[in-house]
Amino acid sequence: MYNLAIIGGGPAGYTAAAEASEAGMQVVLFEKDTLGGTCLNIGCIPTKTLLYSAKQYYNAKNSLKYGVAAENVSFDYQKMQQRKQKVVRKLVAGVRQKLQNGNCTVVSGSAEIVSRTDLKVVVACNGGQYEAENLLICTGSQNFTPPIPGLKDNPDVWDSTDALNAKELPGSILIVGGGVIGMEFATLYHELGVSVTVVEAMPRILPLLDGDCVNILLEKYRKQGISILTSTKVKSVEGNIVTIEPLQTEQTSQTCQTVQADKILVCVGRRANLQGLEALADLELERGAVKVNDFMQTNLRNVYAAGDVTGKIMLAHVASRQAEVAVGRMLKRIPLQRIAYNAVPSVVYTNPEIASVGLTEADLTGKDCVLPIEYVAKTLPMAFSGRFVAENEGENGLCKVIIDKKNRTLLGVHMIGNPCSEFVAAASFAVRMGYTVDEFKQVVFPHPTVSEILRETVTSHP
Ligand code: NAD
Repeated sequence: MYNLAIIGGGPAGYTAAAEASEAGMQVVLFEKDTLGGTCLNIGCIPTKTLLYSAKQYYNAKNSLKYGVAAENVSFDYQKMQQRKQKVVRKLVAGVRQKLQNGNCTVVSGSAEIVSRTDLKVVVACNGGQYEAENLLICTGSQNFTPPIPGLKDNPDVWDSTDALNAKELPGSILIVGGGVIGMEFATLYHELGVSVTVVEAMPRILPLLDGDCVNILLEKYRKQGISILTSTKVKSVEGNIVTIEPLQTEQTSQTCQTVQADKILVCVGRRANLQGLEALADLELERGAVKVNDFMQTNLRNVYAAGDVTGKIMLAHVASRQAEVAVGRMLKRIPLQRIAYNAVPSVVYTNPEIASVGLTEADLTGKDCVLPIEYVAKTLPMAFSGRFVAENEGENGLCKVIIDKKNRTLLGVHMIGNPCSEFVAAASFAVRMGYTVDEFKQVVFPHPTVSEILRETVTSHP
């Protein structure tokens, strides 16, 4: 009998498998597709690889502003796709290698729970049966298709996987949903010369992020010719003709319009994968996801869950940390650890990037307030960093720091400007450790780096 059965080999599953097997547990991991899950195969890594190619092309075309003339700049999308596959293969091989430590068995196939008691879980996969003391559900999530007439079985409609696998670029694309996936694809296609329209139901794109950062992006993208329609819903689709309807606002009267695009890309969120778990009839769910406590335990004694299937924050780095917490609980590691959700960084790979951690102003005030704390928001333009000015000709950016007015701790940091994704971890660290302004001031930042903007903003006088 195994100590642990894990269903799903994405960032949650493979991190848990490595952590548990290295600690001496006998682990069996089931994966129906390719190790690495959504993140490595059809999510974070392939998108960032293509985005990097697009950025190279875009920068080459716009290099004159740095005094470099590049003529006849062109790109080969097939080559970009081939490189993407190479990157994915390399990283998947790395995951496979990580699990080859003698204590972990990887089984290829679709796993299904057969039965469960408090002492044992039985899993069927590929004609075999496997018994384990504990089960960790890491089945991830899948693209959600909203019930809009004309979307289903329409060859002109793509989800993010179709878009990533397409051999050729469309001439034009309409993206339904201006969230993280939608805006990253808008960036990719726009930089490669595709005509892009984004339709977002909320009053602004990236509705959960800091409004000032998002407005900088919005202004830039609109100026560059990306059509971004907010407070607008897709009503129906016929072939490649999309009927959109502005939602009632003070400025609009409700009239439908049609927009034609070669492809329609739907990015309106993801839903937890619960297939194969049917035998766990008493497993408690919450909003369509597996309900877990702070230690990633479900309501069933020896059943844990981690990653997108828990419906918490659908990010690979949250999944892997949740997996560590789950394994720590199984091993009864003292002190028991929890994941610090308040200090989870997030990045949107637009151009410029947006990176943030912790509370936003909207969390602390107004109608969406979750914590009525008195705060101070300090902001500085990214141009206060010498390195930013040197490397971002004609670009604008912002760093905003949210500070608890009473005890002067850092509650949140929100930034737009390249390459803020690379140093948001410093802000996460400060938020996680509850640093005050004075403590943060004692940290020396290397000069000249864009990261100095963090220290400048924290120590500035509002
Ligand atoms: P999302 O929830 O981020 O955004 C979906 C957007 O679609 C929302 O803004 C919503 O208002 C809008 N919407 C919903 N229905 C609509 C409709 N009918 N018409 C128009 N707009 C509509 O979801 P996503 O972008 O699909 O991303 C899924 C998950 O993957 C998220 O949790 C995201 O954080 C994660 N992800 C993260 C990264 C990253 O970290 N860089 C990259 C990709 C995905």
